Amino acid sequence: LPVAPRPKPLDLSHHLSPLARRFKQSKVQGLYKYGAIPGMANLAGGMPHPSFFPFDSLSATALTPNHFTTGLHTTFLQLLVSIKKPSHFTIPKFPPPNSQDPSTDIYLARALQYGACEGLPVLLDFIKDFAVNYQHQGKIPYDSPKVILTSGNTDGFNKALEVLADPYRGDKILMEKFVYKGAVDTAACRGIDVVPVDVDKEGMVIEGDDGLQGILESWDVKRDGPRPHLLYTVTMGQNPTAGVLSVKRRKQIYALCQKYDIIILEDDPYWFLQYDLFPEVPDNDTFLSTLVPSYMTIDTDGRVLRFDTFSKTMAPGCRLGWIIGHPTIVDRILRLSELTTQMPSGATQALVAKLLVHTWSMSGWITWLSLLRHQYESRMNTLCISLEAGRTVTMIHLKNIRLKEIVDQDGNVIESGKYSLVHKAVKELYEFERPMGGMFVWVRVYFEIHRLYDGMNGREIMRALWEYLASDDIRCLVCPGQAFGANDEVEEREAWKYFRLCFAAVDEAELKRASVAFGNGVKEFFELQE
Ligand code: PMP
Ligand code: PLP
Repeated sequence: LPVAPRPKPLDLSHHLSPLARRFKQSKVQGLYKYGAIPGMANLAGGMPHPSFFPFDSLSATALTPNHFTTGLHTTFLQLLVSIKKPSHFTIPKFPPPNSQDPSTDIYLARALQYGACEGLPVLLDFIKDFAVNYQHQGKIPYDSPKVILTSGNTDGFNKALEVLADPYRGDKILMEKFVYKGAVDTAACRGIDVVPVDVDKEGMVIEGDDGLQGILESWDVKRDGPRPHLLYTVTMGQNPTAGVLSVKRRKQIYALCQKYDIIILEDDPYWFLQYDLFPEVPDNDTFLSTLVPSYMTIDTDGRVLRFDTFSKTMAPGCRLGWIIGHPTIVDRILRLSELTTQMPSGATQALVAKLLVHTWSMSGWITWLSLLRHQYESRMNTLCISLEAGRTVTMIHLKNIRLKEIVDQDGNVIESGKYSLVHKAVKELYEFERPMGGMFVWVRVYFEIHRLYDGMNGREIMRALWEYLASDDIRCLVCPGQAFGANDEVEEREAWKYFRLCFAAVDEAELKRASVAFGNGVKEFFELQE
C-alpha cells in the first residue's frame, strides 16, 4: 500500500538560543563532498594521508547476539541458532580492491580520517534505519526526523542545552524532582534553573500543585520570569526512581507541552530495559512492539528531541550515541559539533559499525538487546527478593510481667516468674517500588524510626547508616538519595531519605550477598533485632 506522506514538523526555530542562531556552516566541511568525486585530487582539506596513520588494521573478538541464552528455556530452533562461537573480525586499512559497494565498506583510511560530523555514513544509516523502523516501529508522525551521532547522552544533552537554552533570557528547565544529577549540573552550571516536577511510581505527575499542569498553570511570568520552554525527562527506567511512563500519561504531558509550547528533551539510556512484560524470552518483533514506546511516536509537532546511547547496550567507554528529532534543531547541534567534538571517535565508530552492520546485522542487534534485558531483569529480581525479605522486622513486646514465686512444700522455688502477654508489631525499616525498568532500585529508608532521631538530625542518621553499610562489616556501597534532588530544596526536603541501589554493576553472587547484607545492616543499625 502506498504510504501517505507525513506532514512537516512545525517551525520551532523560536526556541533556538542566540548562540544557535549565529552558527554558519563550516566552509571547509562544505567542500568535503567534492573530494569524494572519483579522480579528484583533494588538496583542499587539511587531512593527513592515511599511510601516515600507524594503525594498519583493527581486529576484535565479539560475543554473538545470542550469548545470553545460557540457562534459558529454549525451543529446538533457538537451540540450533544458539551456537555461540564468538565473532572475529578485522577492519583493514583500505577497502578490498574488488569491493562491490564502497559506500558500505568499513576501513581505517576512512574511519580514522576527518569525516562527516553526522557520523560514519554506514553506521549512521544503520542507526537511522534502526531508530525509525525498529525502535519507533515506523511511527514517528512527521516527515524526515534528522539523526546525528554523538559521544553519548552527556554530550548530546549538553549540546542540546547550548542550542536551546539561554540563561540571559531567564530560561529554566522542568525536570522530574528526583533526577539524574548529570543533567541538573549541565543545566545549573549555565545558570539555567531547574524547576522540579512531582513524580510517582511511573514518572512525571500531572495533577496537584507540584505536578506539571499545576506548575504551568500557576506560573506567574511577572513573579517567576519566563515560563520554562524546556522539559528534560527520563521516561523508561527513570534514574533513580525506575519508573516507566505509560502511553496515556505521555499523551497528557505531550498535550501540555503543545499548549505551553515546550520542547521535550527525552534522555533514554534504558529504554530497552523494561520489566515484567515478557513471561519468556520473546522473539524480536514481540520484544520491540511490547516495550512502552517513546515520546517520538506521538510527536506530531517535532518538539521531542531524543537522546540514545550505546553506554548501556554496549559499553560506556564507547562514548557513542545519537540524537533524533526536528531537523532544524538537530542541524544546529551538528553545527555546534563541527566546533567542538566534530565526530565521535573514528576507532569506536569503526568497531561498532563492523559489529552491527557487517557481523550481527539488525536482527542480531535486536536479539542482543532483548537477551541483555533478560539478564538485567534477573538481577533486578535477585536484588528485590532479598530487599523485600529484609524490609521489616517483627518486634515482640512483653507486657504485664508478673513475678510470682511458686514454692514447693519444702520452700524451694519451682517457678520464679510468669510472663504474659505478647504484643507483636511489624516495623518497616524501608520501602521500595519494584522497578518497572532501568538499573536501579530507589529505597525509602525510615530514618525517622531510629531511637536517636529528634526531628532535625535525619541527615546525620542517614550519613551514619551509609557509613555503616560501607564498613568492613557489611561492604555494601549505596548512593545517598540527596545526589538526585532536582534542586537544593528537593535535596533538603526529601531526597536524602532515599538510597539508590544499582543491580547492574556487580555479578549475581555478589549482588545476592550485598542485598542480604543491606537488609541485615539496616536492622543492626536501627538496633532492632528479631
Ligand atoms: N587547530 C588547528 C590549528 C588545526 O589545524 C586543526 C586541524 N586541522 C585543529 C585545531 C583541529 O584539531 P582536532 O582534529 O584535534 O580537533
Ligand atoms: N542520562 C541518564 C539518565 C543516565 O542515567 C546516564 C548514565 O548514568 C547518562 C545520561 C549518561 O549517558 P552517556 O554515558 O551516554 O553519556
